[in-house]
Amino acid sequence: MGASRSRKITILGSTGSIGVSTLSLLEFAAAKGEAAFEIEALTANSNVADLAEQARKFKPKFVAVADPRYGAALRDAVAGLGIETGAGPEAIEEAAMRDADWVMAAIVGAAGLHPTLKAAKRGADIALANKECLVCAGDVVTAAIDEAGGRLLPVDSEHNAIFQVFDFDRPNRVSRLILTASGGPFRTWSKEEMATATPAQAVAHPNWSMGAKISVDSATMMNKGLELIEASHIFPVPHEQIEILVHPQSVIHSMVEYVDGSVLAQLGTPDMRTPIAASLAWPDRTPSPSAKLDFAEVAKLTFEAPDLDRFPALRLAREAIAAGGVMPATLNAANEVAVAAFLNGDVKFLDIAAITEQVLSDVARSGGTQTLTTLEQAVAADKEARRLAEERVAAKAAA
Ligand code: NDP
Repeated sequence: MGASRSRKITILGSTGSIGVSTLSLLEFAAAKGEAAFEIEALTANSNVADLAEQARKFKPKFVAVADPRYGAALRDAVAGLGIETGAGPEAIEEAAMRDADWVMAAIVGAAGLHPTLKAAKRGADIALANKECLVCAGDVVTAAIDEAGGRLLPVDSEHNAIFQVFDFDRPNRVSRLILTASGGPFRTWSKEEMATATPAQAVAHPNWSMGAKISVDSATMMNKGLELIEASHIFPVPHEQIEILVHPQSVIHSMVEYVDGSVLAQLGTPDMRTPIAASLAWPDRTPSPSAKLDFAEVAKLTFEAPDLDRFPALRLAREAIAAGGVMPATLNAANEVAVAAFLNGDVKFLDIAAITEQVLSDVARSGGTQTLTTLEQAVAADKEARRLAEERVAAKAAA
């Protein structure tokens, strides 16, 4: 990324953990004279205060909130700054359609699907943090990016690590992808202990500072299950050749094994500004404010096999990807509903995987469409899984 080239950037989900890290990185790169950029659009769901503060600082042309109830507050908050505003899901899509050449897709959940697709369809480079949109409609999203000629730049640290060491010219020489997992806050907890885990305990990730939903996903290890499905869409490797390995220090962000036995890895401190920087500058490099690795301080790297009994979400994700069709979208939507219910205090921690499993069984039993090649099918599968999951949540909450 040379200082001479000014880039137009949009951040979908700018008020979240990834959005804030992206703005921090951009600020750092600009201060170093490494990047000239203009912000085209910034978006949030309802956090008007942070969005308005970002607007004052970064002077985007357009800001939008997804929740229409906050439209008037946003208009008032940026009045006089000469910034256009919008509200409602269509306004988020409008932000995605505006002319930016690098779009950070950092909305949480399947809500990111439509806006990410809009940006993909006009040929923007997609820096993809929003893993749920690939889980829900991976073939649709990757086809849209390919057809329009943009690049898919994975931001998730594991996928970004693999992206950096994957030989795309010789994918048949790859024998395994090894996705590392920290194991989350409950890595050493028994099932009995997890049964009483609170939302505060579940979001207290040992290594990474992240939004609430992905933090709970890390605690159930559904995050790694979603990442397995995400990886199968980004890299031309069969899902059976993607392994999950618990690595509590989160220093090795993932690895690629080649047929000759060589294993290439990307390492770094657990700071999302490193993979964000890699996706911003790719294939160049740009400085990032993230701390550099001190190997002597890290001292040792350890590994363990994942425990599928305590973390059934990993098994569910494997079953969903093996079944294919609507099952990954079903897994994702049911999990989103169950995580929200857990954060809301309506269901217990272990109910998250239990509800997701029940919804997957419901859908498998009803024999709904087993193919998923269109956006409409993804949206229908997502909607049906949410309906079934909400029924299950209501039943648990009433029990
Ligand atoms: P956060 O919850 O911190 O932020 C989510 C962002 O999306 C916020 O800007 C939020 O706005 C916005 N948002 C929420 N709901 C909607 C909606 N319905 N429509 C439009 N915008 C919405 O999440 P994270 O930053 O942690 O994660 C974002 C994505 O990146 C997730 O898919 C996650 O899995 C992925 N990811 C995150 C990592 C991390 O380190 N945090 C690491 C790797 C991947 P508001 O502030 O108003 O609620």
